[in-house]
Amino acid sequence: MADSLTSILKKLLNQPTAPFHEYHVRAQIEQLLLDVPNIELTIDPFGNLLATYRKGKHKSTPVWVLGAHMDHPAWVKVPGKNGELEFLGGVPKAITELKENIALRKELGEFAPWGFPVTIEDGKIEATACDDLVGCAIIVNVLKELSRLDLDATVHAAFTRAEEVGFLGAWHVGKNWPFGKDSCFLSIETSRPVNGSEMGNGPIVRVGDRLSVFDHELTSILMRTAAEQGIRVQRALLDAGACEATALQACGIRSAGISVPLGNYHNMDEEHNIAPEFVMMDDVKASSDFLVALVATDHKGLGERSIEERVTLRMKEYKKHIEIANSKFDEMTA
Ligand SMILES: [Zn+2]
Repeated sequence: MADSLTSILKKLLNQPTAPFHEYHVRAQIEQLLLDVPNIELTIDPFGNLLATYRKGKHKSTPVWVLGAHMDHPAWVKVPGKNGELEFLGGVPKAITELKENIALRKELGEFAPWGFPVTIEDGKIEATACDDLVGCAIIVNVLKELSRLDLDATVHAAFTRAEEVGFLGAWHVGKNWPFGKDSCFLSIETSRPVNGSEMGNGPIVRVGDRLSVFDHELTSILMRTAAEQGIRVQRALLDAGACEATALQACGIRSAGISVPLGNYHNMDEEHNIAPEFVMMDDVKASSDFLVALVATDHKGLGERSIEERVTLRMKEYKKHIEIANSKFDEMTA
């Protein structure tokens, strides 16, 4: 119960992981959430870990399902091929197969991740798999924080498998949506900051990714919550990669996304050397605070005023302008 955000990050980032081989991460999340009051854990048939925090009858509108994936690009043993390794996840072959890079992998049973140590120093977090164990750590911290605050709320979480090979775990969640029709998915990712967003400038409200754009009403709830709570966020289209909101949306689930700015995306530095990924602690902390605020605040419906209401108001406000100008149109066409 006494885990701080830093200790949650350390525990999770120290777990080796790979597409399909997320058992160390899943066991660590289960251990962190075990016996936390008001939290229930289940494992779905695909092996995704689902969590629900529920206290009292209070439900926010919408009910959020926070999602993060437990895998990261890594070397994995080819089934039936006597220990031969193949690289799974989005890193070019020309890079993974360089001799000096192969020397950086650390074999652990069925898989071999890059073997970088975890360091948390001077506000910077470095590790092999910030993407997306930082997202997992943020969600764990949010759930524990809600419990510590003893808040009346309902929120769900999905810790998914095999995202890096094409959203396989998220797809299972979306196709078998167990959270009720009023629930919406919120992807908690780490992503390369592009299109004006920057490291250290706070969580990014991700309006979309490389494959799709997300629900604009949910996105405006995120922006409004940040403004109301005085949390500095950035708003950007992060189209240098894709995230699970795209998969869930394709399954018909309303979805939005938040990203922590990530350095050395998929372990490639600017010179395309294999390197640890990194994020800034302030961005991680702000993301966690943002999510606690989001879950704790009630947003009845969407936006203070719908676009239709706003246009109707403007129509009334400018009625005289319209009349006067219309008479000029009439004069000219008479
Ligand atoms: Zn990711």
